[in-house]
Amino acid sequence: MDIQTPDRLVRLAVDLVNTHSRTPEQLTTPADVREFLLEHGEADPIELDEGDLVAVREVRERIRPVFHADPAAAARTLNELLAEYAVRPYLSDHDGSPWHLHVAKPEATWAEWLAATTALGLSSFAAGHGFGAVGVCAAVDCERVYVNPAERRPRRFCSPTCSSRTRVASYRARRAEG
Ligand SMILES: [Zn+2]
Ligand SMILES: [Zn+2]
Repeated sequence: MDIQTPDRLVRLAVDLVNTHSRTPEQLTTPADVREFLLEHGEADPIELDEGDLVAVREVRERIRPVFHADPAAAARTLNELLAEYAVRPYLSDHDGSPWHLHVAKPEATWAEWLAATTALGLSSFAAGHGFGAVGVCAAVDCERVYVNPAERRPRRFCSPTCSSRTRVASYRARRAEG
């Protein structure tokens, strides 16, 4: 349960929200959550039960509005999550790991850890890039979220796929009209 780079925390937040948008639920069992955590750099032992699964999904739904809301509401949501889940940050080199920051309480559940770290990641990201760099895909039938660290290149889509299918659709619509 470590914090490494800020980028990693933002990725964790985006990927967590995108485990369920309009797509089928990806977190259907505790094993799915474990797989998600392993894919995002956490190490075994990762033990989760049905209660953890429910709690992780609840955290996900509390983070989701940050991507949809206006900046003031998004900031309020993040501040609430930080107040509820984050503790005073502290450095640790437990288990022979290099020195790193912890922001969740030592006995945190995985859901609490996800709440604290993703809220911190999104807060730092928004503070650095503005809430304009945090958004929801503009493509029809897609509600995946994204962050855009490339400030000079505005972004509206979650992926090149959504960007190009939107372009193709509007081209066809124009041809149909013309
Ligand atoms: Zn640690
Ligand atoms: Zn999309």
